[in-house]
Amino acid sequence: MSKTKHCEAIRVVVRCRPFNRKEEKSGCENILRIDDKLGQIILRNPEAPPDEPMKVFTFDSVYGWDSKQSDIYDDAVRPLVESVLQGFNGTIFAYGQTGTGKTFTMQGVSSDPERRGVIPNSFQHIFTQIARTQNQKYLVRSSYLEIYQEEIRDLLCKDNNKKLELKENPDYGVYVRALSSVVTKNATEIEHVMNLGNQSRSVGFTNMNERSSRSHAIFVITVECSEVGPDGEDHIRVGKLNMVDLAGSERQSKTGAKGKRLKEAAKINLSLSALGNVISALVDGKSTHVPYRDSKLTRLLQDSLGGNAKTVMLATVGPAHKHHSESLATLRYANRAK
Ligand code: ADP
Ligand code: MG
Repeated sequence: MSKTKHCEAIRVVVRCRPFNRKEEKSGCENILRIDDKLGQIILRNPEAPPDEPMKVFTFDSVYGWDSKQSDIYDDAVRPLVESVLQGFNGTIFAYGQTGTGKTFTMQGVSSDPERRGVIPNSFQHIFTQIARTQNQKYLVRSSYLEIYQEEIRDLLCKDNNKKLELKENPDYGVYVRALSSVVTKNATEIEHVMNLGNQSRSVGFTNMNERSSRSHAIFVITVECSEVGPDGEDHIRVGKLNMVDLAGSERQSKTGAKGKRLKEAAKINLSLSALGNVISALVDGKSTHVPYRDSKLTRLLQDSLGGNAKTVMLATVGPAHKHHSESLATLRYANRAK
């Protein structure tokens, strides 16, 4: 469902995960109501007096606890990937509190076709489309990187503790120097690349979940297509797809972070708020300044945010009353991007 807005290039969708076993057992109260026809999420504050009106948010699409991975893909992601195949850039972000389903939505469970997430579904989609074409030649490259504490690491490189530099060049724009780029010929090969990167994410860290909740992981697919034009010359078009599993959006002050942790938290919040500012400046359309330079994340994605690029902001929330304030914060963040 779409509605009129300043910037058609940015779609904002929200997904609510089901109760988990623990929440179910402890008799958690559901504070969210989803109206997928109207694209609305209605949030109830469990501490508010009964006569306080509930908060209603409207988005391009909303997905309830029974939504399937394929619903998200077909509705929100497929058009984005189509436009990448046409030579445009595109980005999908998963934003939300840790534990609300960002990684489930982006990665899912590779071994189960029903639960495969956005990233593996895009592999299938891209290579199926390529196999259908006849007169074009395609080159598909992928990179996988992580931004942690405003430092960039290559997830496809053996020496993955090396910090990579962000560079700028008048011809290429902003790029990561010495980042691995792997050419793949089919969905199986690119899936292997993704698995390698996922393994590398957890190396050297005692608690994988803890780390992944504090870093942004970006899987980049570049699709280059060459075709002989009517003039007999080779024409090349390049599209780039960025799939971003963002750091957890929870406010760190609540977790009682101190010292190093607190500094880390400040940096995480910096890049998430920089992203919010960039998107809201793009949506606003009147801003003359889009603050791309405020974080590594927004600098890196500069050529894929705004202009001809398409963006999907997918916010994830949980249904339980104890997460009311985080869910409200997530919905507010997503609401700014409309
Ligand atoms: P995040 O990456 O945001 O921290 P996860 O994707 O790891 O959250 O999800 C937390 C847990 O909830 C995982 O066990 C995941 O399988 C489960 N989960 C998340 N979203 C859904 C969903 N839509 N349906 C079923 N299970 C989900
Ligand atoms: Mg995660």
